[in-house]
Amino acid sequence: METIRVLARFHTAHRQLQHPGQCRFPHGHTWRAELVLRTTRFPRDDMDMSLDFGALKAVFKSLDHKILVTANDPDFLDPTRWDPCGVVLIPGRGPSVENVADYCRDQVLALIAAKYPAQGLTYELRLTIQETDHNFFTVESSHVI
Ligand SMILES: [Zn+2]
Repeated sequence: METIRVLARFHTAHRQLQHPGQCRFPHGHTWRAELVLRTTRFPRDDMDMSLDFGALKAVFKSLDHKILVTANDPDFLDPTRWDPCGVVLIPGRGPSVENVADYCRDQVLALIAAKYPAQGLTYELRLTIQETDHNFFTVESSHVI
């Protein structure tokens, strides 16, 4: 087995509209991500590199200094009020750490599928998003690409 592990950090804002407490107000976090990818043997490109660490980290950096919203929070999706370059629309009913992790996982899988399509390899993925000093969410999944 081979393992690729990357760490990333990004600063974003979000709000949980339906939350009864302070999380309903726009606020920021310094999020941290740990991505672990495992497969029997990663495919190699012409330089014998498998997946570029920088490209994987770019998935997380694409969220940096932006506000994360879902479709049920249209205030930040109004381009006359908010520059769309600073807004990331993620799937789900709120920009929870769970949905942030799912969004990032899907971006990583798309990156692999674009570079090495239909190889029939099974990738084990573990992605942890740290929202605060003490709060973590981890998604683990297996994918054939
Ligand atoms: Zn928060």
